[in-house]
Amino acid sequence: DARARIIDGKAFAAGLVERVTAASASLKTDHGVIPGLAVVIVGEDPASQIYVRNKGERTREAGMRSDTHRLPETTTQAELLALIADLNADDGIHGILVQLPLPAGIDSTVVLDAIDPDKDVDGFHVVNAGRLAVGLPGMVPCTPLGSVMLLKDALGDLSGLNAVIVGRSNIVGKPMAQLLLAQNCTVTIAHSRSHDLPAICREADILVAAVGRPEMIKGDWIKPGATIIDVGINRVPSADPVKAAEGKTRVVGDVAFAQAAAVAGAITPVPGGVGPMTIACLLANTYVAACRANSVTPVS
Ligand code: NDP
Repeated sequence: DARARIIDGKAFAAGLVERVTAASASLKTDHGVIPGLAVVIVGEDPASQIYVRNKGERTREAGMRSDTHRLPETTTQAELLALIADLNADDGIHGILVQLPLPAGIDSTVVLDAIDPDKDVDGFHVVNAGRLAVGLPGMVPCTPLGSVMLLKDALGDLSGLNAVIVGRSNIVGKPMAQLLLAQNCTVTIAHSRSHDLPAICREADILVAAVGRPEMIKGDWIKPGATIIDVGINRVPSADPVKAAEGKTRVVGDVAFAQAAAVAGAITPVPGGVGPMTIACLLANTYVAACRANSVTPVS
């Protein structure tokens, strides 16, 4: 009985990647610049290895340069900082991404803040957080950036809408709040200490779930007609008990999708909603960084 419109993030992301690929090709033809992204991974974490390989492939498919630096688990913080200094100085590299988590013994804040803010395509540098907070151009974190693109595509003008964000992380919740404030939403940030979360959520015209708890947000927390952005990516046992017993898993969001879709006006699915936007925005940020480094106005 689902009545919500499904927001197709996969299709929107494919369109964005197509536009970024075309814009990058023009940057090469008109200005001789090929956007370059360096991805640094330390250690052997299997999930991180898959993410990094995927990022490299997608970057090359978009006609950009992709360099992957694979460092051993034993790498010291000083060695990692030395690599970042080299990449900061390399004119052919416009974006630098350090895959998290880093091994114990390396302070990720120190490492991220060593990246040249103009090459910080993840947007995690404190300078970029500050630029976003005061409304200066900078690098915006990919997941919230992609989420806002989906919202503007779904709703048009967001002015005056009540936006509730559940989650206050530096990589999703806080930058999402800044972006929605910049779109003239009335923004509420809820978190694990918030009182009566269901009541807070029921006020939301736009509800953003960035919690990391499978299907926590229920259908009766949702205002009829609201637009739901589900950022959560949670791996849970398969719904089929036989498959679950074999160790098979599936991915769900932070929102109980079927319940929510019966009440909401529009909703992102998991998978296929926000997830594909993250890598598309990474490519977009790399293109924008390459333009700015060469004083070219990016095509938006
Ligand atoms: P964090 O763990 O850093 O932050 C989670 C936030 O949720 C915290 O602010 C926490 O509150 C809050 N929270 C936890 N439990 C509750 C609760 N019971 N009630 C209310 N709030 C709660 O996660 P991230 O922001 O990094 O990621 C959030 C989700 O998004 C994860 O599922 C992650 O996998 C996914 N994700 C998806 C991406 C994509 O590409 N689509 C990219 C990045 C993340 P408090 O601060 O009080 O502890």
